[in-house]
Amino acid sequence: FPTTAFLGLGAMGFPMAGHLAARSRETGGRTLVWNRTPARAAAHAAEFGSVAATLEEAAGADLIVSCLPTSAEVDGVLDAVRGHLKPGSVWVDCTSGHPDAAPEQRARLLEAGVRFLDAPVSGGTVAAKAGTLTVMVGGPAQEIEAVRPHLAFAGKLVRVGDTGAGFAVKAVNNALLAVNLWAAGEGLAILGLRGVELGAALDVINASSGRSNTTENLIPQRVLTRQFPATFGLGLLAKDAGIALDLAEQARGSAPVIAQVTALYRAASRVIGAQEDHTAALKLIEQWNGVELK
Ligand code: NDP
Repeated sequence: FPTTAFLGLGAMGFPMAGHLAARSRETGGRTLVWNRTPARAAAHAAEFGSVAATLEEAAGADLIVSCLPTSAEVDGVLDAVRGHLKPGSVWVDCTSGHPDAAPEQRARLLEAGVRFLDAPVSGGTVAAKAGTLTVMVGGPAQEIEAVRPHLAFAGKLVRVGDTGAGFAVKAVNNALLAVNLWAAGEGLAILGLRGVELGAALDVINASSGRSNTTENLIPQRVLTRQFPATFGLGLLAKDAGIALDLAEQARGSAPVIAQVTALYRAASRVIGAQEDHTAALKLIEQWNGVELK
């Protein structure tokens, strides 16, 4: 892939594209970067030696990677690049997208001779900067193997099934994050109401069976410190839980906990703010209980 393009330089895309640019430098290729707000692309070029490009220029790359909020924004970009794509290229969408969108996106791109892989990522901005993201990919195995060596932001890359399976696994992973975070918030609120020191409680929980990434990392680092650094938006997590719920409903399955948690994060997103960090959802639990988790 002599020319790589990255579309969407948000909290995740900016560092991910940095790894592609570094790889391009090693291999003598070029990494084009496009962002809706062009100043981000200019800043990326200055920091990583990528090339700020128009969307039309980026669409002509041999490998295109996108990371936008939802599948709706990806569809918008697909509309805009019509007629500018290069047959034989590959589009890897790292958005946490909707599994229903993936087959349509793949079919649309195949009409232009372009292959599409759904390849959402996990690990947050820390792993994006370190180049150690977990990537879950849906699509034909041969196509995935062809791009594997080029996705320089990946620490672990697993084919999880056919087109759309990557988006499905990501939605369920994040529904689990949402459940764990909410449950831990309720548990700590109970302990806070009883006057238990929460740092000591977490110390014990993290050496016990109730632990999760939320008790080990997110809550001590973001909630107890009252910092809530906005690296992953609350609105995005509500979106992901909603996708998992859609999948349950489409299959006529029963997932009452995920249904409940989706409603809770949608409410938190409205009341606390969609742009706030996802951990700020626990402020709703704090309000309901009149206790601060600190
Ligand atoms: P951000 O909100 O930080 O960035 C969103 C990006 O999308 C920006 O580049 C923004 O451009 C662009 N964008 C928004 N709307 C449009 C549009 N209509 N057309 C074109 N571009 C648009 O999001 P994140 O980087 O946090 O998340 C991106 C994806 O990755 C999401 O699907 C999220 O769920 C997922 N994800 C996020 C993680 C995290 O920790 N943050 C972890 C794993 C996955 P502009 O600069 O102009 O606003």
